[in-house]
Amino acid sequence: MNNINQNTPPRHRLIPPEELEAQRRAAARIRSREDRPQTFFVVTYGCQMNAHDSELLAGQLREMGLTEAPDRESADFVLFNTCCVRDNAERKALGNITWLKEVRKRNPGLLIAVCGCMAQEPGMAEKLLRQYAFVNLVFGTSNLHRFPELFEEMLDSAAPVIRVDTEDVVAEGLPVSRLRREAAYVSIMYGCDNFCTYCIVPYVRGRERSREMADILREAEGLLESGAQEIMLLGQNVNSYGRGLAEKADFPGLLRALDRLGVPRIRFMTSHPKDLSDELIRVMGEAEHVLPQFHLPVQAGNDEILRRMNRHYDRETYLKKVRALREAVPGIGLTTDVMVAFPGETEEQFLDTLSLVDEVGYDSAFTFIYSPRVGTQAAKMPGQIPPDIARDRIERLIALQDRRQKEVMARFLGQEEEVLVESLSRRSGREVSGKGRHGLSITLPGCDRDVGRIVRVKVTGVKNNTLVGEREVRS
Ligand code: SF4
Repeated sequence: MNNINQNTPPRHRLIPPEELEAQRRAAARIRSREDRPQTFFVVTYGCQMNAHDSELLAGQLREMGLTEAPDRESADFVLFNTCCVRDNAERKALGNITWLKEVRKRNPGLLIAVCGCMAQEPGMAEKLLRQYAFVNLVFGTSNLHRFPELFEEMLDSAAPVIRVDTEDVVAEGLPVSRLRREAAYVSIMYGCDNFCTYCIVPYVRGRERSREMADILREAEGLLESGAQEIMLLGQNVNSYGRGLAEKADFPGLLRALDRLGVPRIRFMTSHPKDLSDELIRVMGEAEHVLPQFHLPVQAGNDEILRRMNRHYDRETYLKKVRALREAVPGIGLTTDVMVAFPGETEEQFLDTLSLVDEVGYDSAFTFIYSPRVGTQAAKMPGQIPPDIARDRIERLIALQDRRQKEVMARFLGQEEEVLVESLSRRSGREVSGKGRHGLSITLPGCDRDVGRIVRVKVTGVKNNTLVGEREVRS
C-alpha cells in the first residue's frame, strides 16, 4: 500500500525507453526457454481499468511466447488480476486462488500469480506468503510494466517472488492483447487524488497522473486504422485529466481532439461530479462523436454524508449539474454509483439518498453497501451500520431504482438507436446484443456476422432492464 495521504505531493515517473527495452529482452529470453509455461489464463476482477490492465498483461505474456488457454484448469500459468475496492471482491479472489491449489495436485507444474489492487493492500503480501505460500508470484499495480522481469525471476526461483513497490509510474508502448477489436479501452490517467474517506483506490493505485495527449491521440489513431468503432477512455477520475502535464491539456480538450480525429463513438468512465465543468458540458452537447451518456457517481443524497465522504459537492450542486447536462444533451443516458450504510448514516439521511435517486431517474445505478477498507478514514469512523439495517436499505434502494429505471427507459420506445453489436446470444443463436448510443444494452435479431458492426434499430420494447429493437437500416 502506498504510504500516502492528501498532503503527499503528487509525483510520477515516465518509464524511459531503456527500461522498456530491458523488459522486451527479458520477454525474448523467456520465449526461448524450454522450461517456460506454454499457456496462460488471466482471471480479472473489478472495473474496466483492471480489464484493460489484463489486456496489457496478456499482451506481455504473448510476447513471452505463451498462448491463451481456454480455461484456468488447463493453463500452465494462471494470473489473478485482483480488486480490493470491496470486501466481497477480495474474498472471491482469495477463494478462487485457494481452489487452484487443488488443480495443482493434478498439474504439479502449474504456476500461480496474483497482481492488481489487492496485492498492493497493507499486509496482503505477507498474508499471501503466510497463508497462500503455494502462490509463485505477487506484484502490485506499479509493477505491471516489469512483468517479464518478474516472470523470469519466478521461473528461476524456488521461493515466491513478491514485488509491491509504491512508485507512481506511466508506461507507454506496452504490448497489448485486446479483448475486442471494435471497441477498445484507452487509459488516459491513472490513480486518484480525491481521497474519498471510504475508498482505498488512492492508496493502492497511487496519486493521479495523466498520459500526454499526443500519446493518447497516437494510440487512438492506431485503433482507428485497425477498425475500432468505439473508444472507451479510462481513468479513476477522467474529468480531472491533464493535471501536472508538461504540455497543457484538459479533458474537454482531449474529447474535442478525439472528436476531430473521427473516432466514431467516444465514451469515458469514471467522472467526479466536482470536476464536471461547464466546458465539459458544452463539449458533451457539441462534439459529434462523444456519445450522449454520462456516468456521474453521486454516492449519497445527503449533504452531511457527502461531506463526511469527502466528496466536495453537495446535493444541490450535483442536481444542478444533472440539469445542465440534460439541457445540453436532451435524453442523455445517466448512470451512477450509490452507496448505503456509510458509517453514521441515519434513516433520514438514507431517505435523502432515495429522494435524489427518485428525482434524477437514472438509466442504471450501481448500488452497494458500504464496505470498510483497512487504511481508509471511514473504516475508523464511529457508527458502523448493522448488517440487517444495511440490507434493508439496499433492498429499498434497489426496488426504487428498478421502478425508476423502467420508467426512464420507456423514453426510448419508438425511437431509433444505433447499436454497436457486441455478442451473439448463446441461448437463441438468432439474437445479438450490444450498446446503444445512450449506453443501454439492446437486443435485436441478428447473427454472428453482426458482431463488431454498428446497426440501426427501432426500439420496440423493454425487457429486464434491456431495450429490445427491430432492425431498420444496416450501416
Ligand atoms: S474519486 Fe473514486 S477512485 Fe477516487 S477516491 Fe473517490 S471513490 Fe475512490
